[in-house]
Amino acid sequence: LASRAFHPQDTLVQVGNSIIGGGAPVVIAGPCSVESREQIIEAAHMVKRAGGQLLRGGAFKPRTSPYSFQGLGEEGLKYLAMAREETGLPVVTEIMDAELLPMMESYVDVLQIGARNMQNYTLLKAVGRSTKPVLLKRGLSATIEEWLMAAEYVLAGGNPNVILCERGIRTFETYTRNTLDLNAVPVVQYLSHLPVLVDPSHGVGNWRYVTAMARAGIAAGANGLIVEVHQNPKEALSDGDQSLTMENFEQLMSEIRRISAAM
Ligand code: PEP
Ligand code: MN
Repeated sequence: LASRAFHPQDTLVQVGNSIIGGGAPVVIAGPCSVESREQIIEAAHMVKRAGGQLLRGGAFKPRTSPYSFQGLGEEGLKYLAMAREETGLPVVTEIMDAELLPMMESYVDVLQIGARNMQNYTLLKAVGRSTKPVLLKRGLSATIEEWLMAAEYVLAGGNPNVILCERGIRTFETYTRNTLDLNAVPVVQYLSHLPVLVDPSHGVGNWRYVTAMARAGIAAGANGLIVEVHQNPKEALSDGDQSLTMENFEQLMSEIRRISAAM
C-alpha cells in the first residue's frame, strides 16, 4: 500500500488548512517538550508569526535516561490544545502507548510515532485504526525498507494519512548526534507516494547546523520540515542544544521561502 507501483499519485495529507505533499513545503515547529502553559502558548504565537503552519511539542517523552524529564503527560496535551485554540495552529505530538490513543486523539491533530517506536507494531496497528494523520519517524538504525514496512502497518490498518519523517540515523560519526540521511528523501519519493519531511534538529543535534540542513532538506525535495525551537534554549528541559532561538527560526523560514521559490 505504501508503494508507488500500487498508488502512482502523490498522497496529500491535509491538516487544518495545510496540505502536506505536493505544493509548498510545510513547516512544523515548536519546542521538543511542552514545559508549561505559558511556554507553549508563547511558542505557538512565535511559530505562527514566523510563518510555521503546525505546532509541535512533546507531552510524553521517550528519554534515554529514566531520570530525565519525562514530559507533562495529559496536562501537556491540554496546553497544546489551548495553544491551538489561541493561534489556530494544528498540533503534532508523540504517542508512546497504544492504550492512550483515544485520550490523545481528543487533544491532537497529528500523532507522531517516534524513532524509538518505529517498529512497535502494537502501536503502529493502533494508529492504523485512528482517523488522525500519523507522522512516522525513521528508526535510529532502520533501513528505508523497514521504515516503509512500518508505514505499511499503519496503511494496512486503514489509515491512509501517513507522513514519513527522516530524522537522522546512527553512524560512526560523533560530532553530530545522528547523520541526516538526505538520500532517503528522493529514495522514498521514488519508492512511495507518501509525503516526506526532514527533521534537521534531531538529524544533527546542534543548533548551529540545523539551518544548513533544513535548507538542504528542502533543496532535496522534502515536503516540509519539523524543527525544534525554544524561547530560551539554554533553559529547555529537553533538546536545548539543538533548539533554535525564535530569531534563528525566523531566519530559517526566510531562507526556506527563498529556496522553495527558486525550485
Ligand atoms: C522528538 O521529536 O522530540 C523526538 C523524540 O524525536 P525522535 O523520535 O526522532 O528522536
Ligand atoms: Mn526532541
